[in-house]
Amino acid sequence: MNHCKLLAPVLLLPIAALCPQDAPVGYSDTPHLPGGEWRVHDIARPVPATVTSGATVSAAPSDAIVLFDGGDLGRWTSRGGPARWKLVDGAMEVNGTGSIETREEFGDCQLHVEWAAPAEATGSSQGRGNSGLFLMGRYEIQVLDSFENRTYADGQAAALYGQRPPQVNACRPPGEWQTYDVVFRGPRFEGDELASPATVTLFHNGVLVHDGAELIGATTHRAVAKYSPHEAEGPLSLQDHGNPVRYRNIWVRRL
Ligand code: MG
Repeated sequence: MNHCKLLAPVLLLPIAALCPQDAPVGYSDTPHLPGGEWRVHDIARPVPATVTSGATVSAAPSDAIVLFDGGDLGRWTSRGGPARWKLVDGAMEVNGTGSIETREEFGDCQLHVEWAAPAEATGSSQGRGNSGLFLMGRYEIQVLDSFENRTYADGQAAALYGQRPPQVNACRPPGEWQTYDVVFRGPRFEGDELASPATVTLFHNGVLVHDGAELIGATTHRAVAKYSPHEAEGPLSLQDHGNPVRYRNIWVRRL
């Protein structure tokens, strides 16, 4: 008996959140994204071509705010208390204690993050090395082991989750360190109305995968994202999706 298939309809939670090993590789019953060509998490949306990246440079510049250098989690919080991810070999590792977020808040910024999926690749689709980088606590750049791991295009590594696939798949093998270099511009609101959407430029392992891409709203699952007005700054958050993904060398510059 598969308890996952029993539990999911009862709890109305995504199956992937409960049973990563059974994660689907896409959907054909979700609503259409703006433009109408593709559904959210569309199983039929073509996946990006794969490229192999070169070496990457990642040292923090002198004016950066270093959010994590391997020493401690003092700049991070979780569920109203201290962040409790595991510190190991100069990295921090997801350990089931919940997502973490920065104590300090940021809006427009340049951000550098390094991450590694578990060396032992287990699970499939969204169940393999899943985590995420949430800008302003709302807008997810997906972290996933997308090395020879098929999932829906708008949910693979470096995707703007549920919205836009990366231009190419620059994912390195599980266990290897990878870099995200982000230029983020937050949305602007005038009263309750959206004045301009958030944009993301992203280099994955030094390869451009989003070039000023517009977000259509706050990240959601199996639904079309939409904006809700919010403050000009919010925390950076790292997702605990139940897989022991590691992070190191995280720094940010306000823009
Ligand atoms: Mg995620």
